Amino acid sequence: MTDDKIEFRDVTRIERIGAHSHIRGLGLDDVLEARAVSQGMVGQKDARRAAGIVVQIVREGKMAGRCILIAGEPSTGKTAIAVGMAQALGSESPFTSMSGSEIYSLEMSKTEALCQALRKSIGVRIKEETEIIEGEVVEIQIDRPATGTGQKVGKVTLKTTDMETSYDLGNKIIECFMKEKIQAGDIITIDKASGKVSKLGRSFTRARDYDATGAQTRFVQCPEGELQKRKEVVHTVTLHEIDVINSRTHGFLALFSGDTGEIKQEVRDQINNKVMEWREEGKAEINPGVLFIDEVHMLDIECFSYLNRALESDMAPVVVMATNRGITRIRGTNFRSPHGIPIDLLDRMIIIRTIPYVEKEIKEILKIRCEEEDCNMHTDALTILTKIAHDTSLRYAIQLISTGNLISKRRKATEVLVEDIKKVYSLFLDENRSSQILKEHQDEYMF
Ligand code: ATP
Repeated sequence: MTDDKIEFRDVTRIERIGAHSHIRGLGLDDVLEARAVSQGMVGQKDARRAAGIVVQIVREGKMAGRCILIAGEPSTGKTAIAVGMAQALGSESPFTSMSGSEIYSLEMSKTEALCQALRKSIGVRIKEETEIIEGEVVEIQIDRPATGTGQKVGKVTLKTTDMETSYDLGNKIIECFMKEKIQAGDIITIDKASGKVSKLGRSFTRARDYDATGAQTRFVQCPEGELQKRKEVVHTVTLHEIDVINSRTHGFLALFSGDTGEIKQEVRDQINNKVMEWREEGKAEINPGVLFIDEVHMLDIECFSYLNRALESDMAPVVVMATNRGITRIRGTNFRSPHGIPIDLLDRMIIIRTIPYVEKEIKEILKIRCEEEDCNMHTDALTILTKIAHDTSLRYAIQLISTGNLISKRRKATEVLVEDIKKVYSLFLDENRSSQILKEHQDEYMF
């Protein structure tokens, strides 16, 4: 052993903090009015309220195939609002998010990429019939036959309302019995389709709970044991998942690896027909969700016309798009149009506008971001940062939080001060200053 100090490092929490991880919803009240600051959302009240109405309509399933455009200057919270919508919708409805440029890949055509994104946003609730047996365990017998296969056979006698009935148990159910440590006296359910066994409680008559002294302490309340047949179990999948599983030999694996490749139209037609059949028979419900396409001006004329047609389908999801472009060229043409979107598509959209923030709102957003990034910032530093955000962009100022925090930690400080912000402001350029330098030194760069 030397006298060297042994340095112990704290094992710090490693968390991924995304650009929008502070957003937890749209921050609306019961009548869909936007609260000034709520669920990580600040200001932009009209746009949030409009987004809340869209969420409501999606939830009610009344708005298949509609198209909404969120348009506004850079850093005015268009993506933040879409993230808020996804949170507000919850896991019930599918929400797919992509950037316009993602459709350009070598693996599949642009329209195939769009088609997959649309179908990822359409949920299918499949109702399945299953039998669930419920009762109190009277006796369990589990044997291992001498065949050496490792297979087990078993029988359970369950007491239902007024009779005792024995059921043969399959291997899967036996494993559940062992895992759940099912004993006589337990009230259980067995789902015959999936083999899942659930313990609901203990019976009054056969089991009592004792504490360490052996004294009887409590009875567990449990439902009356009775034989029940419950008929509906609902699974929710997306049309895209059904496509992949049916189009590849190892469809499930392809779903996990994301290596889905192109899917033939005949496969999709067959699946559409099957789903329609199930819908008519009452076995399935279509649940159109939301497809969010950020930077939508990156799509070209072929994509726009594909989308225009796809939105006609009665299974289409709600498509929410966002752009910060003004009047600009539609990709793939020489025509200019508002937001770089063809007029006929624009005509079928409803447009939500986001507006630039006032300083008070910017300060509030920066404060929320500081909390999110565990950054303790001095009020003067926050005021300077707000000014920077106002003069450059909100996104640039947000970047200075983590970098400023790092610099303050380096000098073993517990708070980010004005000098830290000044330092990172000089180290990292914003778009304006970088462009200015380019203009001044244009001749020294390569053409
Ligand atoms: P762009 O047009 O450049 O894509 P945008 O309008 O999509 O920008 P965002 O990316 O949503 O802007 O906003 C920039 C940053 O500010 C993000 O971290 C976002 O979460 C945050 N932000 C923007 N608006 C709000 C808001 N109203 N409340 C809370 N955070 C916000």
